[in-house]
Amino acid sequence: MAYEMVVGLEVHVQLQTQAKVFAPEAVTFGERPNAFVSWVSLGYPGTLPVLNKACIEAAARLGLALECEIASEFFFSRKNYFYPDLPKGYQITQEAAPIARRGQVFLRLADGSRHRVGIERIQLEEDTGKSLHDQDPFDTLLDYNRAGIGLVEIVSEPDIRTPQQAMAYLAHIRRVVRFLGISDGNMEEGSLRCDANISVRRWGEERFGTRVEIKNLNSISALGKALDYEYRRQVALLEAGQAVQRETRTWDGTQTVPLREKETADDYRYFPEPDLPPVRLSEEWLERLRRSLPELPDRLFDRLIGEYGLSADDALLLTEDRPYAEYFQALLREGVSPKVAASWMNGPVRAYLNEAAIPMEAFPLPASSLAKLIRLAESRQVSLTAARETLFPHLVQNPTAEPADIAQRLDLFLSQDENQLEAWIADVLAEHPDKVETYRKGKVGLLGFFVGQVVRRSGGKADPKEVQRRLAEKLA
Ligand code: ADP
Ligand code: MG
Repeated sequence: MAYEMVVGLEVHVQLQTQAKVFAPEAVTFGERPNAFVSWVSLGYPGTLPVLNKACIEAAARLGLALECEIASEFFFSRKNYFYPDLPKGYQITQEAAPIARRGQVFLRLADGSRHRVGIERIQLEEDTGKSLHDQDPFDTLLDYNRAGIGLVEIVSEPDIRTPQQAMAYLAHIRRVVRFLGISDGNMEEGSLRCDANISVRRWGEERFGTRVEIKNLNSISALGKALDYEYRRQVALLEAGQAVQRETRTWDGTQTVPLREKETADDYRYFPEPDLPPVRLSEEWLERLRRSLPELPDRLFDRLIGEYGLSADDALLLTEDRPYAEYFQALLREGVSPKVAASWMNGPVRAYLNEAAIPMEAFPLPASSLAKLIRLAESRQVSLTAARETLFPHLVQNPTAEPADIAQRLDLFLSQDENQLEAWIADVLAEHPDKVETYRKGKVGLLGFFVGQVVRRSGGKADPKEVQRRLAEKLA
């Protein structure tokens, strides 16, 4: 293609603090509509906002994690517009003096390369209520439970050049907010939301083209598809000698469609919020915050590869969210080797979580117990297959039981009797002289057949790995 894609993302993260950002009621999701709304959030005359310190802390931690400069002093602004989900008639947000600026992230792309994306600013603001268009046949209903929940908006520089980079950026932000524990980053429930600004320009051209903002991207893959679509649409316009209109569009699942003309900053009549004083952050407070940051997914990723020799695929899965990464590290503390722990985490554990549709936090098995199970397999007391496919599911159903007791009850222990093992092998070889002959003539694929026969004869008591080793020796 003769055109390059230029993208900047605006990502909103809902802060899962106890209270809202300027009002005392609880932050909830999926509760009875309008059950968590105070006079403040409804904009009643005479009420005043009170800033929630926990939201400042969350925004500052995010700023630090994204390598931003944190402002030692900042203030809030009013963004004025009329919309039913905004009962005050204005949103308290930040404009001239955001809490953080000039950060950066380094994306890891599938081909192993890195790509830098600058962070222009991070601002703290309040969420709006929600318009419900599908609950009543005639009217739009309003739920204000969301109104006033703390939001941070992370605005990237227009440094993104492909849909893959955009998706990697969004996944990166999601991992970071999850590691910091400031939000669950759930896009379906709207705790993480993304708008994409996209323009195109001829290769080699320095100036940016006219940008279009796409709203309503409610998954990472939707972001990729919408950019792909919008890129083609803009290129087709330019190729036809037409201009791209500056506008806001929405992604409907298959295409982008016009939503409204883009409003400009002037339309909002921004001015400093008179009901909130400017905020000053002390150097000591920031320093304490900096020191209290957890190990971030990027650092952990590097360590998983550099120190433990894991593959990039394994490391990526293990750094997806913090509880998952912590469980993996708990297995290591129990003495499980990194590669073995990774294969259990990204194998049976992950499959179980997916099937049960539960997050890691709800995984019933303590790491100490899974480590015992893994040791049974590693010491060849139980075969790996039996450990993964039989013992593991039973233990998950019975999380307080001793792995060895269950293995006993299910009769999974392998025979440790060498003479017995030799006898089973000898029997099988004696039964199939023709196949032994064929094997010796070079059809070594038959080894699997012999192993299967011995395991069957043993009633599952022979360790397949040991049988294979001995057979290969004998038949050589
Ligand atoms: P707005 O108020 O219009 O949403 P913001 O400053 O909040 O503006 O966000 C602008 C976003 O658009 C940033 O992410 C920025 O990187 C991106 N952007 C700016 N110019 C372009 C362009 N020509 N093409 C693509 N993205 C752009
Ligand atoms: Mg914006």
